[in-house]
Amino acid sequence: MADVDIRPKRIAEFIEPFYVKPGRRVRLPADFDPSGTRKVSKGQAKEILAAGVDLLSEYQDRLAAQDTYGVVIVLQAMDAAGKDGTIKHVMSGVNPQGVTVDSFKVPSAEELDHDYLWRYQRELPGRGHIGIFNRSHYEEVLVVRVHPQILAGQKLPAKMKGRGVWQRRFREINDWERYLTDQGFVFVKLFLNLSKEEQRRRFLARIDRPEKNWKFSSNDAKERAFWDDYQKAFADMLSNTSTEWAPWWVIPADDKPFARVAAAAVIANALIQIDPKYPKVGKEQLADLQVAKQTLEGEAPDGAAPDPYEAEVEEKKAGDDGDAKGKKGKGRKKG
Ligand code: AMP
Ligand code: MG
Repeated sequence: MADVDIRPKRIAEFIEPFYVKPGRRVRLPADFDPSGTRKVSKGQAKEILAAGVDLLSEYQDRLAAQDTYGVVIVLQAMDAAGKDGTIKHVMSGVNPQGVTVDSFKVPSAEELDHDYLWRYQRELPGRGHIGIFNRSHYEEVLVVRVHPQILAGQKLPAKMKGRGVWQRRFREINDWERYLTDQGFVFVKLFLNLSKEEQRRRFLARIDRPEKNWKFSSNDAKERAFWDDYQKAFADMLSNTSTEWAPWWVIPADDKPFARVAAAAVIANALIQIDPKYPKVGKEQLADLQVAKQTLEGEAPDGAAPDPYEAEVEEKKAGDDGDAKGKKGKGRKKG
């Protein structure tokens, strides 16, 4: 992993092309290339992803310890763009106790009986946690927009379904996210940008490979017929809901290994910005720790080191020093 550069500055540079500047008018596919601009080899991608996952793991630990900020990762994409694979690979190294994943499907009768943000609000992570939204409140301006009959089926007051409904929803979503951001909940919004041709390839792979058949439904093919409407809806969503407090990132998704690295980098960047710190222990608590240490050392059985942990650390340090003298630091491993 020695060659992988995961300094914050490098990460920030790497993800810059994916950023949707607030206020920018986005056209798709013209403005963002699904195949990406840089090529990384499979080996490189694996290495960078491993480094990114390590970094995420460390930051997640700090996020939980600090217990002040929560992170909401929003994943939106066309079918077969790789949302599931991204979740699986990017979150592979994190502590499951600190992460929840929620997949949003067609709303239930109970959900339709409430305001449209209700079900998303209910699944928000707590402080110190990362919540992944596999699909999200953005479906309310995507699938609902592409299929007007879905809006018709939402039990809204009639005047709320007419003109201006999408601009109003953009504003409501922005306001909701702003409120939550002020409360310490940071949004990381990823649009996995797939090309129509790559979706065709992936659908065919799902049809041709028996172990992938379950991933394909005839509904997926029906939705594909609305491709252009979806692109328009996505472009309008990006143009209207990329904000200073909760910007969108457009991840080139045609190359899976690259998409995973890019997604991990954006998430890592968000955690670096939060920069969660382990809580500092006060003087009084430090004194308490010393008292407890003395008691525990006093309980050492015959022949045992009073503090086996300390003894181990000392021994290791002595060994490392010897090593360094012998081989001039060559091949020294960090513990
Ligand atoms: P999948 O993610 O493949 O399991 O599919 C979930 C389905 O639920 C997709 O077809 C989504 O478009 C649909 N869906 C998600 N959210 C909503 C919503 N708010 N209203 C209507 N359909 C939705
Ligand atoms: Mg599906």
